[in-house]
Amino acid sequence: MPTYIVLLGPPGVGKGTQARILSEETGLAHVSSGDLFRENLKNQTELGNLAKSFMDKGELVPDDVTISMIKDRVSRPDCKAGAILDGFPRTPAQADALDVMLKDFSGIVNAVPYITAAENILVERASGRWTCRAQGHIYHEKFNPPKQAGVCDLDGSEVYQREDDKVETVTKRIRVYIEQTMPLVDYYRKAGKLIEIDGTQAVEDVTKALLRALKNSNA
Ligand code: AMP
Repeated sequence: MPTYIVLLGPPGVGKGTQARILSEETGLAHVSSGDLFRENLKNQTELGNLAKSFMDKGELVPDDVTISMIKDRVSRPDCKAGAILDGFPRTPAQADALDVMLKDFSGIVNAVPYITAAENILVERASGRWTCRAQGHIYHEKFNPPKQAGVCDLDGSEVYQREDDKVETVTKRIRVYIEQTMPLVDYYRKAGKLIEIDGTQAVEDVTKALLRALKNSNA
């Protein structure tokens, strides 16, 4: 049976960084809805152009296009053993759609690590975040700067600030998260799948806590 892990948490809590590490540690594919939208944006696809208007404002892209994009992604061969889902689902309708689509792969959501931090910490973290152009490697101007300013340590590409990582947009994204994504915390808690992780710890300690929690949950 494949293993699907949903990483839940507010913008800026370090979900993307942890999802990458978990994917390396577990061998499961990393499926990031935000990365998929950004890839479409870069390639100027129809989906990318549609998503841009929502992303720039810090709003969610409509459920129907988001769901079909993820369905397409998890159908690819590298997701045969399962996936780490990062940034999806983000609404109750997306969570329902995920349960339905995983049935097609004889799978279920096995575990939902929920990484948390207080709002002031989130704003500070997300608004100081810089991303590499080529592969989306993530840095922070204060907590984790690249060795050479503006250059990715891992692939040498330019490191830039995402439009939606500017302070005003980050604040808006946190509001949207509270209104639209928080209900999923209850949904997965009631289903007995939620595992709370303190996201204010050092990156390595969050990873350790995540790996321990996944082991205990048998995911
Ligand atoms: P992220 O990199 O996960 O913070 O996503 C960046 C932006 O992409 C979000 O602010 C949304 O505009 C859009 N997005 C990513 N995932 C979703 C989703 N599951 N549903 C709707 N919009 C999304």
